[in-house]
Amino acid sequence: MESGYQISEELAALRDQVRRIIRDEIIPIEAKCDPDAPEIPQDEYWRIAKKVQSASMWCMGAPKEFGGQGLNTFDMCVLTEEMAQHRMGLYNPGAGVFGRTPPPVIWAGNKEQLEKYAAPTIKNAWHTFYAVTEPSGGSDPANAIQCRAVRKGDTYVINGTKIFISHAHEAEWGVVFTRTDPKAGRAGITAFIIKKGQPGFTPRPIRTLRTSAIPNEVSFEDCVVPIEQRVGEEGQGLNLALDLLTRLRFPYSACNVGVGVAALRLAIEHSKRRSTFGELLSKRQAIQWMLADSEVELRAARWLTWDGAWKANRGEDFRTEASIAKLYSSEVLGRVIDRAVQIHGGYGVSKEFPLERWYREARIRRIGEGPSEVHRMVIARTLLR
Ligand SMILES: Cc1cc2nc3c(=O)[nH]c(=O)nc-3n(C[C@H](O)[C@H](O)[C@H](O)COP(=O)(O)OP(=O)(O)OC[C@H]3O[C@@H](n4cnc5c(N)ncnc54)[C@H](O)[C@@H]3O)c2cc1C
Repeated sequence: MESGYQISEELAALRDQVRRIIRDEIIPIEAKCDPDAPEIPQDEYWRIAKKVQSASMWCMGAPKEFGGQGLNTFDMCVLTEEMAQHRMGLYNPGAGVFGRTPPPVIWAGNKEQLEKYAAPTIKNAWHTFYAVTEPSGGSDPANAIQCRAVRKGDTYVINGTKIFISHAHEAEWGVVFTRTDPKAGRAGITAFIIKKGQPGFTPRPIRTLRTSAIPNEVSFEDCVVPIEQRVGEEGQGLNLALDLLTRLRFPYSACNVGVGVAALRLAIEHSKRRSTFGELLSKRQAIQWMLADSEVELRAARWLTWDGAWKANRGEDFRTEASIAKLYSSEVLGRVIDRAVQIHGGYGVSKEFPLERWYREARIRRIGEGPSEVHRMVIARTLLR
């Protein structure tokens, strides 16, 4: 949809529509919910979701043949930046009313799997999960994955534990990454679909500083999975996961930019209202510099995100750009929110404003989806090749 550095009129119009839905529908409903609510009420959710569906804005990044709109990575960055600009937006952009997409590894599945799992997820906005991280560590899954899947005839028997698996307790299904060949390193990892209630699969919610997309400890005890639930071939699991996840780092980064933009907007508004020592905060250079630094950093994060997304659209190798965008946008988000909290004084940490929730949740952005150190390792590897 985009050409060069210009956003097409069509995409700009879509962005305006998303902005209106967030401003006129989501923010007023959220204001009536508990500040830590993970979701908006179901009746409100489906009322807005139905409007979104009839406006052909449902699951815009998913393929058309499975009920999405087939938009590309760049388009999704532009739209996700808008979707994220509300209290629960960092981990539940648009409160989910623009649809929920399945874990990306499913797109490597066969036709039956896509029809049985991907299509109904898109249609019904199901929660799903993907389970990579284990108590042995999440930064280096190629070495850390110990969860075992052993083939027995036309089934596999899974044993092991996963940790911090978002949505596992409420998901209709998800994908687990297991070791099928203990000697083969990253080539010994295989992905399986796990259905809700599958015997031997037990999710247990873990409390963290995030109240949405609750993570779980997940145990597999002699969990028998038929071969039809294997995604791809044996040994392909990790490469499939990383390839498909990497592209999503751009909309993920755009989400960081969106929440940062919303936090900066609040800081600007507050500084223009609040007087101390006989003068508005907005007149103070110390405050102006905080606002200016936030604007500069957010613009830089946006361009890094867009630059990588364009590369992905053009079919070029985008792995380093994905790490640059994810690293920079999540670190900028932390700094921008921190400044906005400071400018708000006590209100910054009260639940009257969304800043306090963003402040907590933004901390996770430097750990999940590859911690900052791991992305620096990827970037350095490219530099030193
Ligand atoms: C709220 C939440 C939700 C999550 N949801 C999911 C999910 O849905 N699915 C899933 O699979 N995982 C999920 N995770 C897990 C997340 O991806 C991991 O926490 C992350 O990958 C880091 O793994 P770890 O916690 O085991 O830290 P470790 O791997 O033990 O690393 C600890 C620290 O050391 C640093 N470090 C590691 N190696 C190096 C090195 N070589 N040099 C320098 N520093 C290094 C890391 O950057 C990190 O800061 C979630 C985590 C959280 C907190």
